Amino acid sequence: MNPIPVNTPLLNGNELQYLTQCIETGWISSEGPFITKFEAQFSNYIGCSHGIAVSNGSAALDIAIKALNIGPGDEVIMPAFTIISPAQSVVTAGALPVLVDSDALTWNMDVNQIEAKITAQTKAILVVHIYGLPVDLDHILDLAKKYKLKVIEDAAEMHGQTYKGKMCGSFGDISIFSFYPNKHITTGEGGMLLTNDSELAERCKKLRNLCFEPNGPRFVHHELGWNYRMTNLQAALGLAQLEQIDHFIDKKRAMGASYQQGLLPLKAKGYQLPLEKTEYSENIYWVFGLVAPSPEEKERMVNLLTENKIGTRPFFWCMHEQPVFQKMGLFKNESYPVAEKLARNGFYVPSGLGLSEPELATVVSIFNQF
Ligand SMILES: *Cc1c(COP(=O)(O)O)cnc(C)c1O
Repeated sequence: MNPIPVNTPLLNGNELQYLTQCIETGWISSEGPFITKFEAQFSNYIGCSHGIAVSNGSAALDIAIKALNIGPGDEVIMPAFTIISPAQSVVTAGALPVLVDSDALTWNMDVNQIEAKITAQTKAILVVHIYGLPVDLDHILDLAKKYKLKVIEDAAEMHGQTYKGKMCGSFGDISIFSFYPNKHITTGEGGMLLTNDSELAERCKKLRNLCFEPNGPRFVHHELGWNYRMTNLQAALGLAQLEQIDHFIDKKRAMGASYQQGLLPLKAKGYQLPLEKTEYSENIYWVFGLVAPSPEEKERMVNLLTENKIGTRPFFWCMHEQPVFQKMGLFKNESYPVAEKLARNGFYVPSGLGLSEPELATVVSIFNQF
């Protein structure tokens, strides 16, 4: 049996044609014409007035935090259950992540636990939409208004997902996307910041480009930034991918529906499958995750899948249990039981856009042998 990787991207639209144009014209740096096209078309697709393309999603988070002037003494509320990128950006900016436990069904930050975490130091709520279903944004927006907080939306797993009919990534003061190869559209490595605030957009552009002064003398800097620029080659890929996004989302939803049906018998064995929908969104299955009834059961199942050359990945590991943060003295004696259970019992199965129907059927059959 051929191995079934946990992710394979689909690159069979205009990707090769646009990349060839880059090579033929010599435009391979961040100065090329695909950058502004991709920024305009992606921001337009999400419904924001400005898009700032960057080298990856984690870079976009660094820029978002700095653009909002979040630094030492400030607190940022975010989920305990997330990829490390948002927490890393906050910590490296000198600010403090304040963690919130997860909702057991959507796996997103439990919005009912946020208000109790707000202090005089709170600057922002950093929303991380998890695995295919968004956070219940209305609660967040109400709190942000009441306490005058900024909202940062990490929509890296949410391309094309909507909340009550409006695009995720269009709600935050700043939102970010990643275009890593396992996201709904990819540029290899890449990311984008989106905002409706033209001043913030200018700040993001400056921060991505070493804080060169747009109007001052060249090579004289008043502030530190990064070289987080995207290349024209990446943007060429992104543009070709964006042309296919509706099809990609349909494909992900079809994959999700097939897994839901095929893996239904697991529910009787105590497994939790992703919610198909909530009252505000329908799952787009960035990945198809499962929560086993125990860590031992997860290990047994993951081993069986591995023996059959089927790729899996564990769920995120919680921020308060990260050795790197513990060594810094962060999150001492904190506990988030729902997030901890997700981290210990959760894993996901092959769910990339390149997954074929027979491959999906193979994955399902291994589970059901068990
Ligand atoms: C993938 C991802 C990121 C990081 O993006 P990179 O492009 O890999 O740096 C950040 N946040 C979330 C929620 C992600 O899924």
